[in-house]
Order: sequence, then C-alpha cells, then structure tokens
Amino acid sequence: MSKTQEIIELEKQYVLQTYKRPDFVLEQGDGVWLYDTDGKQYLDAGSGIAVNALGYLNQTIVEAIRQGAEGLLHVSNLYHTIPHALLARDLCQSSFADRVFFCNSGAEANEGALKFARKWARVKGYSDKTGYVAFSGSFHGRTMGALSVTATEKYRAPFEPLIPGVTFAEFNDLESAKAAINEKTCAVIVEPVQGEGGVTPGDPDFLNGLRALCDEADALLIVDEVQCGLGRTGALWAHEGYGFKPDLMTLAKPLAGGLPMGAILLTQAVADTLEPGDHGSTFAAGPLVCAVAHAVFNHINTPEFLGQVRANGDYLAARLQHDVAKSPLIAGVRGKGLMWGLLSVPPAGDIVAEARKHGLIILVAGANVVRLLPPLTIKQAEIDLLIERLMQTLDALG
Ligand code: PLP
Repeated sequence: MSKTQEIIELEKQYVLQTYKRPDFVLEQGDGVWLYDTDGKQYLDAGSGIAVNALGYLNQTIVEAIRQGAEGLLHVSNLYHTIPHALLARDLCQSSFADRVFFCNSGAEANEGALKFARKWARVKGYSDKTGYVAFSGSFHGRTMGALSVTATEKYRAPFEPLIPGVTFAEFNDLESAKAAINEKTCAVIVEPVQGEGGVTPGDPDFLNGLRALCDEADALLIVDEVQCGLGRTGALWAHEGYGFKPDLMTLAKPLAGGLPMGAILLTQAVADTLEPGDHGSTFAAGPLVCAVAHAVFNHINTPEFLGQVRANGDYLAARLQHDVAKSPLIAGVRGKGLMWGLLSVPPAGDIVAEARKHGLIILVAGANVVRLLPPLTIKQAEIDLLIERLMQTLDALG
C-alpha cells in the first residue's frame, strides 16, 4: 500500500467522519503552492479557508514562530505577557475598538460577542433585551451560540433546540431587517461580505441602515469579519469605507497566520459592562500565538501590502469577468478584493473536484457558488495560472 493510501485508510478508520476529504495527502507548501505525498503540485486558491493570508512557508511567520517558541508558549490569562499587550494595542489603534478579548477560533469569537451583548443589555437595566437578529446566508460558526445565528438549516436542524430569541432577516434587505429589529434586540450580527453563504458583499445602504436601526432600538451591531477581515477585501477591515462603526467586531482565520486564534474587538461602552470573571479561556492569548499574530498583523497593515491586495484583487476581478464569466458554466461573478464567488450552473462541488485534477484548489460557498480565496500574497503571474487552470477545469466539464 502506498504511503498516501495508508494515511487515507488511517484517517478513514480513526477520524470522526464529519468531512469528506479528497483522496490525496498534503505534505508541504510554499507561497501559493501546496504539494501532496505523491509530489503533485496545487495552486491553492482556498488558503486553508481564508487562513493562510501570507501563504505557506512565509518567512515573517516562520521567524515569529521560531522566536516565540524560544520564549514562553503558554502561561494562561492569569498573567501579563508582552505579545498580548502589544497585539491588543495595535488592533485597537488600527480600528474603531478600545478593547480586545482574544480567543481561539471564529465560532468562539462570535460566542463571546453574543454573550457580551447580553451582559451589556443587562447592565444597562433592560430585563428582556436578549434577542439577536441575524441574516439569511449567514455563517457564524458551529458552537451552540454561533450556530443559533447561522442560517443554514442543514447545520442547525440536527442540534435543535438552539438558543431562543434569534430572528433571521433577509440579507441586503433593509425593510426585512427593520421588521426584525425591535426593543427586545440586544444585538444584530452581520458579515459585511458573506463568505460561506455565497460570497455576497453587503450593500452600503443595507450596512449603514443596520447601524441606524441598531441605534434606534438601542441594540449593538456586531460585524463578523472572521473571513472577510484583515485585508481580504483590500481594506484592513471589510466594513471600512462604508461610513459606519460597529460596536463589536469578531476576527479569527488569518489572524495568527495559521495558528488558531480569534478575537473580539469592542468599544469602551460595551467593555464597561464586563468585569473580571464574566468570560475567559485557558489557551487564548498565549504569548506564542500573540507574537505570531502581531507579526502577521503588522505585515498586513501597511499601505503597500493593502495596496497590493487591491491591485491584485482588481486584476483577478477583471480576469474573472472577462475570461471566466464567458464560460456557459458560470452565471455570474461577485466579490471584493481577493474574495470572489463564481455562480455556477453545475453543482459547485463538481467544479471544485475537477479543479483538483488540474492542480487547483478552490472552495464551494453553498451549492452553486465556487469560492476563490487565494493567499493575499498571490502575484499577478500566479493569478494568470489560477485563471488558466480554472478555464481548463471549466472546459473539461464541457
Ligand atoms: N464566521 C465566519 C464569517 C466564518 O466564515 C467562519 C468560518 O468559516 C466562522 C465564523 C467560524 O470560524 P471557526 O471555523 O474558526 O470557528
């Protein structure tokens, strides 16, 4: 039995089968390239689901991990550490936020944000302001709270009852949001660009309108930037440029360049309602992961880097619109920066599977959207290769 087959058999025998994995084993990566155990090379336009923003084997990350590993790995949140303080400062100074709470994943960040909103409402003296408003097409994670504000029925149904008091409104439909948000709403949670739900950018009127509706109802606005934040759209924050400020923002995926980390950023007004003992985590905010995130954040948060993401995003958009959209299998293209969805005529999964045969890793975002999330460091020549392989894939499917 080949090494590849042996590993696949072991996973099949011992790992809980909640994922359907393709039949190759990934072993190495460099830049936008991934290599399997049989030496096949793939251009990775999925970035480990928007995590590997700086690509594989990025020297900023390698060096931060090396230095971090020689220092403290973990001491718990009971103590001060240097990377924790520096990362918190830089995130706050580069955003609307005054405070940050670190955690270990996107779901955990949303879970915390939902809790903070309940506590905020309670301290403000509201007795029954416990409801949440979320949107069609939303994805906020798999834990009970995050799942409760996630729209996808297939993810929710097996685990009901979820937390009560969640109302779903139509994404990008302000009238629908208006009907859902009321004096019982403690928070509205929205992705400025929906990821899993189909790569759908929020309309400026809709997002600004949500801010106004939250103000009217005295509810908090949580933006989930787990997938679309930290440079992915070509701006540091996806909500930037819309002209509104959220009360809370959740981050994760690319934050520590591939190590697990999430964060909840919040205003002082919300922070003032939380006190020692209200929330916590054993692993979160460890010195190693904070040091790596600090290096990643400062790498992304420069005008040059973000300008490059915008330029390459424009180039990718143009190639998708001019070349890929001509395929009869593609019904439309939408996205922002380096986050793109292709509306597919055949099931998106068929295109993703075929693409692997052509050495291209892409993702689905629902049944009929193919999602592209290349590393933010992708170069123009690599975008050309991405398009070439995508066209080969579509041609092969007819
Ligand atoms: N929020 C958004 C917008 C996401 O895309 C995801 C994951 O895909 C999550 C939350 C959940 O993050 P995690 O898988 O790290 O729990």
